[in-house]
Amino acid sequence: MNYHVNEKGYFGDFGGAYTPEMLYPNIENLRKQYLDIIYEPKFQEEFHQLLKDYVGRPSPLFLAERLSAKYGTTIYLKREDLNHTGAHKINNTVGQILLASRLGKKRIIAETGAGQHGVATATVCALKGLECIVYMGEVDIKRQAPNVARMKMMGAKVIPATSGSKTLKDATNEAMRDWINNPVDTHYIIGSVVGPHPYPDMVARFQSVISEETKKQLKEKTGIETPDYVLACVGGGSNAMGIFYHFLDDEDVKLIAIEAAGKGVYSGKSAATTFLGKEGVLHGSKSILMQTEDGQVIEPYSISAGLDYPGIGPQHAHLFKVNRAKYVSITDDEAIQAGKLCAELEGIIPAIETAHALAYLEEMTFAGNKTVVICLSGRGDKDLNTYMNYFDL
Ligand SMILES: *Cc1c(COP(=O)(O)O)cnc(C)c1O
Repeated sequence: MNYHVNEKGYFGDFGGAYTPEMLYPNIENLRKQYLDIIYEPKFQEEFHQLLKDYVGRPSPLFLAERLSAKYGTTIYLKREDLNHTGAHKINNTVGQILLASRLGKKRIIAETGAGQHGVATATVCALKGLECIVYMGEVDIKRQAPNVARMKMMGAKVIPATSGSKTLKDATNEAMRDWINNPVDTHYIIGSVVGPHPYPDMVARFQSVISEETKKQLKEKTGIETPDYVLACVGGGSNAMGIFYHFLDDEDVKLIAIEAAGKGVYSGKSAATTFLGKEGVLHGSKSILMQTEDGQVIEPYSISAGLDYPGIGPQHAHLFKVNRAKYVSITDDEAIQAGKLCAELEGIIPAIETAHALAYLEEMTFAGNKTVVICLSGRGDKDLNTYMNYFDL
């Protein structure tokens, strides 16, 4: 089975580039050049140097002993929370800013949900001295205020998206609109494995450093480079693709992607895309998305701004359809409880997005001692207010 993109930009039935005509030259230019640019030795050298000296990679693979004891299995946490700016998002923005420089772009735009991608984009724009505009839903601007301040500190302009549910999907629409109006000088740094080809494949390649390191680190620690299970939360799906990537062809490794069920999968307040979605086109690619009978996108909901998205990347849609990865969902309450448990047992406060992945441990049963790797996609500093309100801290 082929889990990777084909020459037409598809993963099985999903993917492609469904874009307005105005963007065609931009996307086409990117499609033709991205592989040559990113695998050019000088690019790779610069990319890995920045990942090391600026981001702080490799991120540790941490044996979580007390979580392991609680669940009766061996649990490792891949510590993307320790990256500069606190999540995995920076791996992709470092890659894309180097790409934008090589394409001769002077102006950078981005969309953001939790604000992590906006912060990661503002960060690399400051690093390289490029103009930065971030689109963010009005609702998210309120619930992620510290991240808005961070972006502004670094000189980025944050523009509120005021349509629809005023969250990530709407911010993405605004960013697309901007790009259509400024196709020549602007590069759009998409923050997940979504969007028109080549974005899903390109972002997955930048994030694949996560599983590349995980394999090496597991080998060093256990002598075996493949775990039994790999778990990650899924919004658009970039941290999950990053930690799945180099395990895709190791068919014995069970891949589990955890979506946000919000207040319950069938409550009407959910972002559990594979449960509620159907095939459709959103933000430039064919994938699975939450939509009404007549194809209107259903407003998603999750307590975590980073998972509050009505679709998943096309590669995930493919992995779901061919059963290479299992897609499950976790509610707001289950996630928040798992976040608290991780804090108490390991001294690590995870992002609420990440806490969805941790919560799935409650639903797993292990025959004997298995090796489980969880992508700890980000730290919970940005979510302290949500935790405080929930637990009355
Ligand atoms: C953005 C974000 C996510 C969700 O995005 P993916 O593209 O699905 O990885 C998950 N965790 C954290 C900490 C995030 O910031």
